[in-house]
Amino acid sequence: MMDPPSYTNGKLFQMQPLVIDLCEICHKKVKLYVVQCKCKRKLCKNHVFSQNHECDFDYKSEGKLILEKTLVSVQPQKVDKI
Ligand SMILES: [Zn+2]
Ligand SMILES: [Zn+2]
Repeated sequence: MMDPPSYTNGKLFQMQPLVIDLCEICHKKVKLYVVQCKCKRKLCKNHVFSQNHECDFDYKSEGKLILEKTLVSVQPQKVDKI
């Protein structure tokens, strides 16, 4: 005789809870919209902008890095006239 599949209280599936996190600025519960800034803070969409949470991530140096990278990858091209 086979054991019946494990029905517990008639439920076949257990719903996974939605990811709920707190914004570190307004401490609101944010589900699905929580965003992690580059400074590792978790923020709602209202506070994710760096000026709204006193972001201490050094955007300037990263911007410089990106600029340097692009400068390196940009090679002088000959423009031939057709
Ligand atoms: Zn917030
Ligand atoms: Zn930040």
